[in-house]
Amino acid sequence: MASSPLEILHSVFGYTEFRGPQQAIVEQLIAGGDALVLMPTGGGKSLCYQIPALIRQGTAIVVSPLIALMQDQVDALREAGVAAAYLNSSLSAEDQREVERRLLDGELNLLYVAPERLLTPRFLSLLERNEVALFAIDEAHCVSQWGHDFRPEYRELAVLHQRFPQVPRIALTATADDRTREEIVERLALQDAKQFVSSFDRPNIRYHVGLRHNARRQVMEFLERHRGETGIMYALSRRKVDETATWLAEAGFDALPYHAGLDAATRNAHQRRFLREDGLVMVATVAFGMGIDKPDVRFVAHLDLPRSMEGYYQETGRAGRDSLPAEAWMIYGLSDVVTMSQMIAQSESADERKRVERQKLESLLAYAEATQCRRELLLAAFGEEYHGPCGHCDNCIEPPKTWDATVPAQKALSAVYRSGQRFGSGHVISILRGEDSTRMTDLGHDRLSTFGIGADMDEKQWRSVFRQLLAMGLLEADAEGFGTLRLTKTSRDVLTGNQSVRLREDARPARASRKRRDSQLVTGGSLGVEAYEQPLWDELRKLRTQLARQHGVPPYVIFHDATLLAMLRALPSNEAELSSISGVGEAKLKRYGQDFLAVINAQE
Ligand code: ADP
Ligand code: ZN
Repeated sequence: MASSPLEILHSVFGYTEFRGPQQAIVEQLIAGGDALVLMPTGGGKSLCYQIPALIRQGTAIVVSPLIALMQDQVDALREAGVAAAYLNSSLSAEDQREVERRLLDGELNLLYVAPERLLTPRFLSLLERNEVALFAIDEAHCVSQWGHDFRPEYRELAVLHQRFPQVPRIALTATADDRTREEIVERLALQDAKQFVSSFDRPNIRYHVGLRHNARRQVMEFLERHRGETGIMYALSRRKVDETATWLAEAGFDALPYHAGLDAATRNAHQRRFLREDGLVMVATVAFGMGIDKPDVRFVAHLDLPRSMEGYYQETGRAGRDSLPAEAWMIYGLSDVVTMSQMIAQSESADERKRVERQKLESLLAYAEATQCRRELLLAAFGEEYHGPCGHCDNCIEPPKTWDATVPAQKALSAVYRSGQRFGSGHVISILRGEDSTRMTDLGHDRLSTFGIGADMDEKQWRSVFRQLLAMGLLEADAEGFGTLRLTKTSRDVLTGNQSVRLREDARPARASRKRRDSQLVTGGSLGVEAYEQPLWDELRKLRTQLARQHGVPPYVIFHDATLLAMLRALPSNEAELSSISGVGEAKLKRYGQDFLAVINAQE
């Protein structure tokens, strides 16, 4: 094939231009060089090797850790008219032989394989009898034993370099930190690879973090804004997942639970429905998500604090892979900090590991309580400097009000100290508020100098102060996880008056004004479909679902939301106009063009 990368981008994938570093990466591979690509989820990693695969002689071999991912990618490529296949344990022996035959006959542009398969002597020698266009190592962070996705076989992949020194290799990952990057270079022998590091900002995701005061009502209001949209809701415990999924279903939402306590058949069935249907809400523990490649997830909601900033970034990153507007929404409370500390304390991990986990929890808490641009803090967690305001997070859209809380902070710290740093916030607040009880008298705390010095504030205000002092590292929860509070190195500066403390006001906005604000932010759901457009939008989605069923693929493999949305706006009336829409390549135009034109033309 003699086409240029840009021609292939147009004709096969139907896109008008390359995104970010895509073109440079494609050229690097075509020229025979190696590449290491760090790009966030949704950045467009796949095209970086798919286009060179169509240009270079021979078959491109793509190493992918997950069977479900392979199948999706191959389905999508076939829909675009590309000769692609996969080899993994899900295929029958007969189907495997057929794929191998096609490989040997040079019929395949791309072949996806699981690493354990690729590394068998038999497969490697099969490849030696073939022309290999390139090796793509997807999810390359799986080589890292520090990550959650460690796959020992990935470490053997350096053999590709030894056996096929002339074949270009590309390793890709959405995991950003330096340690992982170094490990990839070393383990995969990519010292000579050119590195392409993208910003990890996800500009289409709007971040929002709020306090949990009435979880059900908050979740309902949130979902009202996202009716009919696909989303994921993360909760910490299996029980909470089950309960939430149940009451959401009772309230009329299409919600399903997912956690490791469900049997495999149920889990698979739920995951499959999530991928194949429009508008399903998956309520899940963190067990759900690895390998969820669904591009049109419109929101990710956290009903509890996630474990770490990395976890938060990864989980929220599953929203909006298609670059259309998406929301990352989280509510949390002080009790989360106690629960999480307990979970860390009770885990089997070594002390060193527990210390790291506590630090991670603390930085997440600082993020949650922050008054500055969320994106600044989120990207800073990955060593990226970003200067807000981004204009697209809650703190930028509506800067939080703060107040001088130096004196209350001093009172709080002093009450913690005077009562011996052995109590949780509940009891310390009772001391501050001067609440008499037998326990108080038995402990002799009614005689402390701090008893009653905080009676001017109610319990809720005090809880807010304690939560924020924890988040700012002016107090710390005990390592044992009992929720008892201790001073920290920095508390002293506040007690001596050398440091003042500003806290954010937790006051809840009145209901009416909040409603108005929300509707200003989002009209017609995340995608901004107007009421008059809704009938055609529904028809287009209906047709897509029908075609997807016929072809046995998820709807987004037929066309992405972005492509449907472009049709809705441009109202193409013939094939030429339709083909100019981003995402409509030649193969899809031929296959589905008339069906979609019929629906569009019937509207007018
Ligand atoms: P990643 O693997 O980095 O998460 P994908 O390769 O799945 O990202 O691409 C994310 C989405 O962006 C896909 O829907 C893809 O079709 C789309 N995309 C990729 N490159 C382009 C481009 N140059 N123009 C338009 N859309 C693109
Ligand atoms: Zn911001």
